[in-house]
Amino acid sequence: MTVRVRFAPSPTGMFHVGGARSALQNWIFAKQQGGVFVLRVEDTDAARNRPEWTEGILSALDWIGIARGSYEGPYFQSSYAGEHRAAAQRLHEGGRAYYCDCAREDVQARTGPQHRGYDGFCRDRGLSAGEGRALRFRTPDEGETVVVDLVRGEPTFENKLIEDFVIARGDGSPVFLLANVVDDMSMGITHVIRAEEHLPNTPKQQLLWNALGAEPPIWAHVPVVVNEKRQKLSKRRDKVALEAYRDEGYLADAMRNYLMLLGWAPSGDREIVPWSVIEEEFRLDEVNPSPAFFDEKKLRAFNGDYIRALPVDDFVAACQPWLTGTDTIAPPPWQPDEFDPAAFAAVAPLAQTRIAVLSEIVPNVDFLFLADPLIDEGAWAKAMKEGAADLLDAAIVAFEALESWDAETLKATLEAVGAERGLKLGKAQAPVRVAVTGRTVGLPLFESLEVLGRDRTLTRLRAARVRLV
Ligand code: GLU
Repeated sequence: MTVRVRFAPSPTGMFHVGGARSALQNWIFAKQQGGVFVLRVEDTDAARNRPEWTEGILSALDWIGIARGSYEGPYFQSSYAGEHRAAAQRLHEGGRAYYCDCAREDVQARTGPQHRGYDGFCRDRGLSAGEGRALRFRTPDEGETVVVDLVRGEPTFENKLIEDFVIARGDGSPVFLLANVVDDMSMGITHVIRAEEHLPNTPKQQLLWNALGAEPPIWAHVPVVVNEKRQKLSKRRDKVALEAYRDEGYLADAMRNYLMLLGWAPSGDREIVPWSVIEEEFRLDEVNPSPAFFDEKKLRAFNGDYIRALPVDDFVAACQPWLTGTDTIAPPPWQPDEFDPAAFAAVAPLAQTRIAVLSEIVPNVDFLFLADPLIDEGAWAKAMKEGAADLLDAAIVAFEALESWDAETLKATLEAVGAERGLKLGKAQAPVRVAVTGRTVGLPLFESLEVLGRDRTLTRLRAARVRLV
C-alpha cells in the first residue's frame, strides 16, 4: 500500500503556524514512508475564502520547503461538489441518512435547553428531499467507534452519544465533514495527520467512511498550539501568520526546525538540528499529545542562532529583501541610489552577530545610506547631556587631525579625548554615536565610523554640535 497523506487548508486567512507545523509533519511522514503528499485546498466556504489566501498558503508552504511542483495538487475542493452531493445521495438511498425539517427552536422545545444535539425526531418520518430540509446521518444506536490514532492511541466513542449529524444543509450543499471524507476517499488518503481540534469530528467521519463502504484511514491528531497563557493561538490575539514571521526576517530553516519541536524533539539534548536529521528522526508516534507551547521568545533566539551560523555571503544575500523592499516587505528609509553594497558588505559581519531577525538589519545600517541620520529624540536627550558639546568639540578637532581613518585609531583618539575629561570610553562614545547614527545602540562605533568615512562623520559631528548651541 502506498502511503498517501494530505494537507487540507481552508483559505480563510493568513497561514497559521499550527497549520504549517501539520503540513511539515505530513510532508516528512510521506517522505519517510516513500509516500505521496497531496495538497487540497478546502475552498467550499465561498463567503470566507479568497483566492489571495490560497496564493498566500502556497507561497508560504513553498518558503518553508514544501515547494510547488513537488507534491500532488493543489486540488480544489470546490471542484468536487458533484461527488459530495452524490455521496450524500448514496447515503440517503442506502437508508444511512434521512431528511429533517426541524428548526433548532423546535428541537430545543422538545428536549429542553440542557440537551445537546439532535433528538432524532425525523429519523423515521420518511421525509423526501425538499427546500430547507437538511440531510442527517443516522448514527448507530449501539457499539462504539474506535479511532486508531498514531498520537493518541485509540480514542473510543460510544455511538449512542453521537447525534444524528447534518451532512447536507437545507439548500442541499454538503457540509465540511462529508466533503472532507469524500475527498480523502477519492484521493486514496491512507493517513490523516491534522490538528487536535478536529478530533471531535473524527468518530463522525469514521462512521461516514464505513457507511460509504471504505476502510477509514489511520489518524494522527497532533497537539493544539498554545500561547504562554496556555490559550489556543488565535489570529486575533497572537502573532500566528507564517507570512508575518517570514516578512519580519525569520529564516525558513529556523522556522521549520522550530515548528517541528512543537510536541517533539530530536535525539540527544539538541534542538537546533539540520533538516536532514529531523527528516530522519521524526516519528509521529513520538509526538506528545499535550498542547504545545509556541514560545515566540525562544523562536527569536533560535532565529538569531541560525542567522549567526550563516556564511557571511549567505547572510548578505538573506538581507536583500529588507534592503530593497518587496511586495510584502516595506522599503527601507533610504533611496535605492543611496545604497552602497560595499559599505553594507563591510558592516554585515558586525550586524550578523547582533540581530535576531533580518528586518533588524535596517535600523542597524540606515546611518550608512541616509544623507542625514534619523535622530531618535529620546536617544538625543539621553546622550547630549552636560559636557557633550565640549566632548564633541574635542572629538572633532582630534578626528580632523587624523592621518589614518581606521577603527583602531579612531578608538584610541576618542579614548584619549574622554580620558582628558575623566570619562570612560563608554561615556565618551555616547554623544558621538548619537550624532552619527541617531541611536544609542548599534553596531560597534569605530568600525561604523571607519566605513562611514571621514567627511560624513565630521559633517554629522559638526551638525550635532551646532544643534547643541
Ligand atoms: N480544512 C480543514 C482545516 O483547515 C482541514 C481538516 C482536515 O485536515 O481534515 O481545518
